[in-house]
Parts: sequence; C-alpha cells; structure tokens
Amino acid sequence: MKELEMVIATNNLHKLQEYKYLLKDINVKLTTLKDENIISDPLEDGKTFEENALIKASSIKNKTRKIVLSDDSGISIDALGEEYPGIYSHRYQQSLGGDKEANNYLVNKVSGSKAHYTCVIVIENLCKSPLIFKGYMNGEISSKVKGEHGFGYDPIFIPEGFNKTLGELDEETKNSISHRANATLKLIQYLKENNII
Ligand code: IMP
Repeated sequence: MKELEMVIATNNLHKLQEYKYLLKDINVKLTTLKDENIISDPLEDGKTFEENALIKASSIKNKTRKIVLSDDSGISIDALGEEYPGIYSHRYQQSLGGDKEANNYLVNKVSGSKAHYTCVIVIENLCKSPLIFKGYMNGEISSKVKGEHGFGYDPIFIPEGFNKTLGELDEETKNSISHRANATLKLIQYLKENNII
C-alpha cells in the first residue's frame, strides 16, 4: 500500500512531537510546515475548536498537495466558567504572563476544580470535504505545579484515574490517554476502515 504524505500543520513543537509519536505505527511520512517552507499564522477567530482547526487547515491546504493535519486544542476549567479558557487557552496564558505564571496562578485559584482537555483534528486534501476528529481527556487541577514533561497546562492537570500531573507522567503514558491520542485514534480508525492505510 502506498505511503501517505502528511504535513502536520502546527508551529507548536510539542504538538509536533506528540503527533510523531502517535502516528509512528502507520505508513505515513510526516513533514512539518518548516520542512515544506510554508509560513502560516492565520487569525484564529472561530468560536469553537472545530472552527479554528478548519481555519488553520484551510490556510494551508492550497500551499501543498500533501494531506494536511491541523489541530486546535485547549483546556476547560469548570471553576472558571463553562468551556473557559477553552479556545482561548493560549491567549489566557499570555494574558497572565506565560505558561509558568498561568500555572502558578491557577493552582492558587482553582485547585481541585474539574477540568478537561479538548483536541479537534482536521484533515484536508484527502477527501472532498475536510474530515474532523475530536478527542477529550477529563481530570482536575492540582494543588501544586509539578513535573517537567509535556507542555502548557500539563504540570497542573491530573488525569482521571491518576494521582500525578501530566507533567510528572512520561510521554508514553500521556500519549496513551490524552485528548490528542483520542482524536488521533479516531483518525487512524477512519484511515483503516476506508482502506486508506
Ligand atoms: P493552539 O495552538 O491554538 O491549539 O493552542 C493550544 C493551547 O492550549 C496551548 O498553547 C496550550 O496552552 C493548551 N494545550 C493544548 N493541548 C495541550 C496539551 O496537550 N497539554 C497542555 N496544554 C495544552
């Protein structure tokens, strides 16, 4: 069967590393925006993860003939209100001075609150219409910032069924339970069911 060629449409090196891991067992040759000399930083002004992932994918689909995978993701913390910061996860960190500052602030403010991560993957240049896959991970906010693994909110997020933050869990464990792993699994299932891989 033919090898698929796929561009991971993100400038986030952590996401890139996770996709390389999550897609390592299928017959797909992954490249990055940098490899393809594609510069893209579209205005993500959608109202949902899905809309933002579609915006990212459509800003790239005409710049390559390869399959495009875009990802929009974030954390929602119940104590901050419904689905907040959600699609604003990155901007929320920036407004508090960066990842570390945001995590320090959140463990003081909303420790113990239920939270969940969402990931929406959009695939372009494979079918006529974009394909959409969604994944989630439930958990809660820790009382301390802990661990060096992962990125973003991982040092303050304790996944359901664990007593450590994602920052303390290794790459393999995060990639077996994460929102991104969940959405990627659905993508792989689709590719298999449709004899694409
Ligand atoms: P995006 O690049 O616009 O999708 O922004 C996603 C933001 O959500 C990131 O900057 C992180 O702050 C947060 N985020 C998404 N996924 C994860 C994850 O797996 N771990 C930690 N933070 C994440």
